[in-house]
Amino acid sequence: MLVVLKPGVSGEEIGNVRRQLAAMEVETHFIQGATQSVFALVGDTGKLNLAPVEANVSVAKIVRVQQPYQLASRAFHPEDTVVQIGHCKVGGGHKVVIAGPCSVESEEQMLHTASLVKDCGANMLRGGAYKPRSSPYSFQGMGEAGLKLLAKARESTGLPVVTEAMCIETFDLVEAYADLIQIGARNMQNFPLLKRAGKSTKPVLLKRGLSATLEELLMSAEYIIAGGNQNVILCERGIRSFDTYTRNTLDISLVPAVKAISHLPIIVDPSHASGKWSLVEPLAKAAIAAGSDGLIIEVHHNPAEALCDGAQSLKPEKFRKLMCSLKKLLAAV
Ligand code: PEP
Ligand code: MN
Repeated sequence: MLVVLKPGVSGEEIGNVRRQLAAMEVETHFIQGATQSVFALVGDTGKLNLAPVEANVSVAKIVRVQQPYQLASRAFHPEDTVVQIGHCKVGGGHKVVIAGPCSVESEEQMLHTASLVKDCGANMLRGGAYKPRSSPYSFQGMGEAGLKLLAKARESTGLPVVTEAMCIETFDLVEAYADLIQIGARNMQNFPLLKRAGKSTKPVLLKRGLSATLEELLMSAEYIIAGGNQNVILCERGIRSFDTYTRNTLDISLVPAVKAISHLPIIVDPSHASGKWSLVEPLAKAAIAAGSDGLIIEVHHNPAEALCDGAQSLKPEKFRKLMCSLKKLLAAV
C-alpha cells in the first residue's frame, strides 16, 4: 500500500505523516522523488484503519498496490531509479556498456582485456572469479586470486568491476572487491543470497532466472530492496525455450515491460542470450532500440582458448566494431 504525499509538502508535514504511520506499527519505507514523495507500507495492511492518514492535509491519495512487488513497482517510485557505480550511472537515460571475459583467467588476460574494452568505450569491466558451471569438471573460476586480478585491472584502467557472488560463504569477499555485485541467473531465487545482497552497500546486478517470469524477477528484486538496498539493476539474459539453435531465447519484450511497471534500470546480456558471438551485435542493437539501459557483453582476446563461454565471446576487433555502431544507434535513439 502506498501513501502518496502532495507535491511540495514540507519536512515537518512529512514528519507528521511518518508519526501517524509509526503509531500503526507497520513497516514503512519513505522515498523522496523529484516531484512527489511516497510512503510504502509493507506487510499485512488489510486490517489497518487508514482514515486518519487519508484525512491528513499532506496526503494526496492512498494507493492499494495489487502486485505482490511494491518497492520495485513504478507506482511506489514513479521516476526511473538511477544506480551509481563509481563514475557510471545506469537508468533514467544513462546507458552503460559492461564488457570483459566470462571468467578471470590470468593477470595478463585481465589487464590486456581491461585496457582494450576501455579503449573501445566500455564503461565497466566484467569477469567471473566464482563461476556457476553446469559440470563440476569444468573450470570453476580462480576464486579470491581472480578477485585480486579484477582489483588490479580496475586500478590500471579506472573501470568499475562487476563480478558474481555465488553463495553466502564467499559474499563478503566478493563484496569487498566488486563495485557491482552480480547475482547470476541460477541464483535469482536463492532467497538467503538475495537477503544478504539487501544488506550490502554495493549495487546489485540481478540476472533473470532461466525460466523466471517477470513477476518472479521483480519479487527477487523486492527481496533486495526490502532488505535496504535500493540499488538494483535487472538483467535480461535469455530464457529457456523449445529452440536449441541459440543457447537461450532473448526476451526483448522484458525491457519495455519492466519499464512500464518498475522504476529499476534493466540491461541486456546478448552473449548468454544467444551463446553465439555472431548474434551478439544484432541482439545488442535490438536491446538498445527497445530501451535497454545498457549491455553486458563477453569479450575474449582469444575465444578459441577461453576457459568458459568462448563460443559467445567477441574478439577484440568485433567488440570495437560493435561499439562504433552502437554509438551511432545511441545517437539515433
Ligand atoms: C555470467 O555472466 O558469466 C553468467 C554465468 O551469467 P548467467 O547467470 O546469466 O548465466
Ligand atoms: Mn559466461
